[in-house]
Amino acid sequence: MAVIVQTIGVIIIGALLAQVVLFLVSTWHRVTYERQRRTLALELLRCRVEAARTLKVGQEDEKRFWGGFRKFVVRQKVRECHDVYSFYLAPHDRKPLPRFQPGQHLVFKLHIPDTTKPVVRCYSLSDSPTQSDYYRITIKRELSPSDNPDVPAGLVSSYFHNHLQEGDILDVKAPSGKFFLDLTSAAPVAFVAGGVGITPLLSMLNSITEGAATTREVWLFYGVSNGTEHIMKDHLAQLNRQYHNVHVHVCYSQPSDADVIGEDYDHSGRVSVDLLRGLLPSNNYEFFLCGPPAMMDSLTKQLKVWGIPEDKIFFEAFGSATVKKTAAPPPRLADATQVEVFFSKTGKRCQWDQKHGSLLELAEGNAVQIDFGCRAGSCGTCLTAIKAGDVTYMTEPGVAPEAGSCFPCIAIPKGHVTLDA
Ligand SMILES: Cc1cc2nc3c(=O)[nH]c(=O)nc-3n(C[C@H](O)[C@H](O)[C@H](O)COP(=O)(O)OP(=O)(O)OC[C@H]3O[C@@H](n4cnc5c(N)ncnc54)[C@H](O)[C@@H]3O)c2cc1C
Repeated sequence: MAVIVQTIGVIIIGALLAQVVLFLVSTWHRVTYERQRRTLALELLRCRVEAARTLKVGQEDEKRFWGGFRKFVVRQKVRECHDVYSFYLAPHDRKPLPRFQPGQHLVFKLHIPDTTKPVVRCYSLSDSPTQSDYYRITIKRELSPSDNPDVPAGLVSSYFHNHLQEGDILDVKAPSGKFFLDLTSAAPVAFVAGGVGITPLLSMLNSITEGAATTREVWLFYGVSNGTEHIMKDHLAQLNRQYHNVHVHVCYSQPSDADVIGEDYDHSGRVSVDLLRGLLPSNNYEFFLCGPPAMMDSLTKQLKVWGIPEDKIFFEAFGSATVKKTAAPPPRLADATQVEVFFSKTGKRCQWDQKHGSLLELAEGNAVQIDFGCRAGSCGTCLTAIKAGDVTYMTEPGVAPEAGSCFPCIAIPKGHVTLDA
């Protein structure tokens, strides 16, 4: 009898325990589910708030953009290295500035003493877009060509270096340009800079390290002659040390006796695709290049040979505003010798062929005056109406020309064309 009672007791206790276990398990499930639901709801809310914030910032930025030229004050002028200065520019009206895309540039119109007309030049924004009260540009003074010392040094860069002081006022267009980094992407990137071509890439690099996406893999290959031209050396070394996702490699093509490999720079010689191939774990990167036209030309060709698709190579060549470009030959037209360009204002009829290069160069060769700024399709100064026919571009314009107009500095005729010049 006692055994039966004992057995029944065990069964009852077992059943009770099973109930308790079941209750605990279902409670645990319910709590876990509830927690997950709350986390998801919070994440959804966070995404909505972030999307609303981005939309608001975008809308605010849109309102902050300006048309034409706006007055800026030189707030600070800082020497970066030999022949390179940075200029911190604050809006004269003290109203907040729109965010730009890292890699974009500003267009300046300057009234330089002893010149008959204002001159226009482009300078890339060299810091991240996070500041709303100033923009920074970094300018190298262009010297006279070594093989032609009688030619004057660069007009505008010399003016910035030698004449502009803190407190001076400049006329500046809103940021523009199609060479920029998409900050919403996480794609690994490789930046290749030559000399002062570091400026837009510096803006991109700073944007990555200052932004939320600090894990995005980024490589910078930076070529200069030697330590005297090494722009923002300490800043770059600091980023390289501080962020595990940032890899900076500096090449000196002509190191001086004072330059120590391993300390001041990493590699002797120029930046080459062989160097990139040796260091990058794969070729699965987006490549952003900026430097002298010859460097761009050779590196883009080598990158294509390495198998990098064209849509993963982005580049900007600063070129030189006064000097004609030779790096990008125009595409061959079927019957180029028969192409007639009529400059209607001056009444000049000219034959265009490959050797003339751009329509601006054709105009210059025939004493037809067209104002220009950048010779790169970036500043819009040479905008000219097309009265008949059409043009094509040697490189994509940095800003879209108005309908029915073109930028002769980078345009060539598609066939017979009449320009309002
Ligand atoms: C989108 C874009 C962004 C840019 N960003 C930057 C930047 O961030 N930083 C920067 O420093 N530059 C930048 N540049 C280049 C800049 O716009 C100017 O082209 C550069 O500063 C030279 O202008 P300059 O007026 O000083 O020289 P220019 O007067 O145009 O002269 C250029 C060179 O030509 C020589 N020269 C002058 N006349 C002759 C002649 N008759 N024959 C032969 N040679 C001659 C000069 O001695 C000089 O070496 C950028 C350009 C573009 C298109």
